[in-house]
Amino acid sequence: MRFWTHDRHDFPLPGGHKFPLGKYRMLRERLVADGIAAAGDIHGSTPCPWERLAEAHQAAYLERVREGRLSDREIRVLGLPWSTELVERGRRSAQGTLEAARDALVFGHGMNLGGGTHHAGRAAGRGYCLFNDLAVSIAALRGERTLGRVAIVDCDVHQGDGTAELLHPDPDVFTCSVHGGANYPFRRATSDLDIDLPTGTGDDDYLEALTGALDTIDRWDTPELVFYLAGADPWEGDRLGRLSLTKHGLAARDALVMDRAESWGAAICVVLAGGYAPDLADTVDINVATARALVARAG
Ligand SMILES: [Zn+2]
Repeated sequence: MRFWTHDRHDFPLPGGHKFPLGKYRMLRERLVADGIAAAGDIHGSTPCPWERLAEAHQAAYLERVREGRLSDREIRVLGLPWSTELVERGRRSAQGTLEAARDALVFGHGMNLGGGTHHAGRAAGRGYCLFNDLAVSIAALRGERTLGRVAIVDCDVHQGDGTAELLHPDPDVFTCSVHGGANYPFRRATSDLDIDLPTGTGDDDYLEALTGALDTIDRWDTPELVFYLAGADPWEGDRLGRLSLTKHGLAARDALVMDRAESWGAAICVVLAGGYAPDLADTVDINVATARALVARAG
């Protein structure tokens, strides 16, 4: 199967932030080194057109992003300094998720080696997320084809507040977020299903909660497309996670979501979302395991 990335090269950003940019390149290299993907299977996405972003985001916000006129407060809330490279990689990241979703609908499986920017709301970037790739992709797909119902299974350890804001009102999208209850963001938007897990939650309790969440989606409807945010940040060693999943538990999590998507006959589009291990190699290990599991199913 093929993978998408916001670029074959990481966009350099000015300092003054703690975002682990290097993980994207490391992940691409590991996928090739481990024989999960050939170098030619990893495709660079083009920048998402502004008109497409405008289907999910407020025009005035996009204009401030485009022209570098975000306020100091907006930059603080975003957590990354503005630069043309930041905007470029954000646009390519959103487009990568759309490309992966298209792959999923055609081939059954798709993956963006980035994306999952679930904190971005209609008129605001937040928590390292400039554009909401999920809302942008769903709007674009609906312009291209008849799209059935969509489920968002957000297993990043932080609540998907931007996704909730943008897509909870949509009756054909089920937004589900499984996250640490004590984590960022502290002002939440409401998803169709929010599961707040106690600090320190380990593998068994996590997997039980996730099974319950998937059962809830099952009672809602049979989705045609599942977006799976396979965040690496519920891992026990993550700096920002507060949960205690092992790598084994995270692999079991991936299998649960992929099994359920298969049982629905749904296309599955995997996106990375967060991961803040002190050693980047741990975040990348978790992402590699997710990609390997998806490739095994894609055949
Ligand atoms: Zn996160």
